[in-house]
Amino acid sequence: MVRNSLSLRRARAFTMIELAVTLALIAALAAVLFPVIASGKSMRDRGCLSNHHQLVRAVSMYVEDFGDGELTNKVQLDPYIGANLVDCPNNFSPAFKHTQKKDGCGDDDARHGDEDHGRGCGGDGENGGGHNGAGPSGGGAASTANMTSHGGSVLTSTATAAIFWGKSWASTSYVADKVSGLDLWYAGFGGSRYAATCNEYKGSNGQVTSTSTYLGHYIDTSAAATGQPSTAAIQAEVCKMIPAAKLYTNGYYAVYTDTPRGTAGFCAWHSWGTCSGIPVQFAFFFSLDGDAGCNPSDASGLHSQGLAALANVTAHELCEARTDARGSGWYDSAGAENGDKCAWTYGSPLVSFPNGTQWKLQGEWSNSAYSAGTGYKNSAGLKGCLSGL
Ligand SMILES: [Zn+2]
Repeated sequence: MVRNSLSLRRARAFTMIELAVTLALIAALAAVLFPVIASGKSMRDRGCLSNHHQLVRAVSMYVEDFGDGELTNKVQLDPYIGANLVDCPNNFSPAFKHTQKKDGCGDDDARHGDEDHGRGCGGDGENGGGHNGAGPSGGGAASTANMTSHGGSVLTSTATAAIFWGKSWASTSYVADKVSGLDLWYAGFGGSRYAATCNEYKGSNGQVTSTSTYLGHYIDTSAAATGQPSTAAIQAEVCKMIPAAKLYTNGYYAVYTDTPRGTAGFCAWHSWGTCSGIPVQFAFFFSLDGDAGCNPSDASGLHSQGLAALANVTAHELCEARTDARGSGWYDSAGAENGDKCAWTYGSPLVSFPNGTQWKLQGEWSNSAYSAGTGYKNSAGLKGCLSGL
């Protein structure tokens, strides 16, 4: 999924009458814009309660700034939807695990740059996260089957690099197999059948292909951003660490921090921005060591738990960036991208890459497989997921 930064709000005082009117308006607008709120279908059940608070607060801030008369489309809320409106961990809380998997509320997600759109929990249909024209009124998973193009770009080929950011990356015990493992992951991804599951999507700049070249990794042992790092903080890290000669418009720069997830309701996100005037794509990852909420439970014994968890969300974010590079590519009427729609579901115990490595990776949504009935079921029971087996 994708995410926005907050914009500035203008301060403004309220009278008591204005406040009462505003509260009523907020409730009404939130219900209109996000039908799941009005339906009483609890986001708690969907495991994404924090998104509910985010949306209500976004409406509230918009009304405070602009009044109620102009708010007719979710896209207007983009600047107010903040860092936490994201995909949710698969078992963020044990009590939510079943329903969350059932409704497809994704693990990780993505975030956009300042100019971009926010996106909600993958595949759960609870909000559009601010994509204009993103469907009439949300709706459940059944009404949000295939994705549509929103006219923007895709990554027709991809140049990837990994950045390992944080003091812990100086520690061999922390690093373990993660750096070498992700090197192999990215090196093996290009040309894989798994990568090819996203090749059906065409954007304004051409069609996605499974061509993906790994540029290697960079290690920054300065202290990483803590808490829930902003899009700007991750973009700044990318611009700091990637040499000018390695900045490509089809570049995808993945930032792996040693920051624990804490209470964040997501495992990762992808976004985009510019470095030295060059448009680039990037992603953020928490440390997932020992994080049960972001764990694919790879039982192969091939990788450490932390590496296996990063590998799975790495697949999710990279495939979303390829098909929705800058937030106006492919996603469904609920705002879910291809990774979101198949989050935490697997077509087989392991996916094989051409370089001989094997990984437990979630599938990716295929419109054509869904239409043909040839995919495996996502968590909403829709047969549109492929693992490239
Ligand atoms: Zn996602």
